[in-house]
Amino acid sequence: MSLQHAIGLEVRDVLARSDLYERAGKDQHAFCIRVGRSYPYDVRVLANVRPNSYWMDTMLHEFGHAVYDKYINPSLPYLLRSVAHISSTEAIALMMGSLAEDPTWLSSVAELPREELERGHERLLLSSRADNLVFIR
Ligand SMILES: [Zn+2]
Repeated sequence: MSLQHAIGLEVRDVLARSDLYERAGKDQHAFCIRVGRSYPYDVRVLANVRPNSYWMDTMLHEFGHAVYDKYINPSLPYLLRSVAHISSTEAIALMMGSLAEDPTWLSSVAELPREELERGHERLLLSSRADNLVFIR
């Protein structure tokens, strides 16, 4: 099993339907949306991805929402095929987004060289603390 499949949350179908890159006139934010409640679910992400850690965090966050939505039990009654509460989907998204500052994930999945991680360890820690401090408010 490759690393990309290690946790069993397939997102290639969501990626194929998503609009990830900047263009003139596009919404500047990022979000995940599920269109309707019919199964298989139509889950999409809109983003304005740039190659930096901010957007890595954002993509992990939005795809956290995406897998939460995608794997809602389709045998539930139609009206219950939604998030249990906004805080439950947000918790999963925050957990996924936090991987962008996790040295183990950065090394094993993002394949950031160990030397680079060691050089940036202090900055990564400070950045993580600052993010959490701002977000908790
Ligand atoms: Zn969110």
